[in-house]
Amino acid sequence: MAMLISGKELAEKEKEKVAREVETLRGEGIRVKLVVIIVGDDPASKTYVAGKAKDCAACGIESEVVRFPQQTTEEELLEKVRACNEDPTVNGLLVQLPLPKHICEKNVINAIAPEKDVDGFTPVNVGRMVIGESCFLPCTPAGCIEMLQSTGLPIDGKKAVVIGRSNIVGKPMALLLCAQNATVTLCHSHTRDLADICRQADILVAAVGRESFVTADMVKEGAVVIDVGINRGADGKLHGDVDFSAVSEKAAFITPVPGGVGLMTRAMLMRNTLEAAKRQSGRFE
Ligand code: NAD
Repeated sequence: MAMLISGKELAEKEKEKVAREVETLRGEGIRVKLVVIIVGDDPASKTYVAGKAKDCAACGIESEVVRFPQQTTEEELLEKVRACNEDPTVNGLLVQLPLPKHICEKNVINAIAPEKDVDGFTPVNVGRMVIGESCFLPCTPAGCIEMLQSTGLPIDGKKAVVIGRSNIVGKPMALLLCAQNATVTLCHSHTRDLADICRQADILVAAVGRESFVTADMVKEGAVVIDVGINRGADGKLHGDVDFSAVSEKAAFITPVPGGVGLMTRAMLMRNTLEAAKRQSGRFE
């Protein structure tokens, strides 16, 4: 029976650590602030943004949620992004995705100042990550690495399989695993013999967006399984990409949904925001 990697526990620890550092900075007259921009009324986005504001409050980070209506133009949004870039009281800035169809996400992300890009989505931060330079790591894959490290098992030399190649999860996940010296296979919708490839994985990361996509027959005995998926099931509840109960019988470690990667993603955003404030005040790590 697999041991649970608790996102709740790890995220709480991380946020406590961030809160202590934020407190120290405050003692030195430095405040930490995150601005989150949301456009439209997507219910999931609203929930995510509320979660971010709650985490900021728990960490002593000031947060401002800027809400734009659905019909906002790209130029209006870009104007706000540029204003936040220029505002010295704003340390971290993120635009909640997805954006309405008439707005080009790429244009908006590219407009965020790399030094405030706490989501790690701008080309500058992505490029730095690729070549292993100091940067803001994207929160979800960074959180997954923390979860893997929490098991105490080495990543070095292990076979890792990532399912999904999105820019925000799958691709950076593969890069971060590679940076940890895993041998990585990145699978996607055109991958042949997916189950065979997955069965070879010591570390299996699922970021597909399909409930119960990873079944027990795809998992090697004793593997570590990280479930990034968040899917609203027919039962109205949240489910991951992994058939949790069956896979738990085979894996050595597994992350739950909810209570797994999602919470660590949020904690990593707090870490990045603190880091942004430290860098902007001349305190490099
Ligand atoms: P996406 O739709 O951008 O990417 C999905 C990927 O899955 C694609 O690269 C596609 O090639 C791959 N895929 C689809 N069908 C496949 C198949 N049959 N076989 C192999 N690969 C297949 O999604 P995303 O933004 O990467 O998100 C993936 C999941 O993770 C979603 O459920 C999303 O809600 C969740 N998510 C969770 C967090 C978190 O914090 N826990 C953060 C981001 C995304």
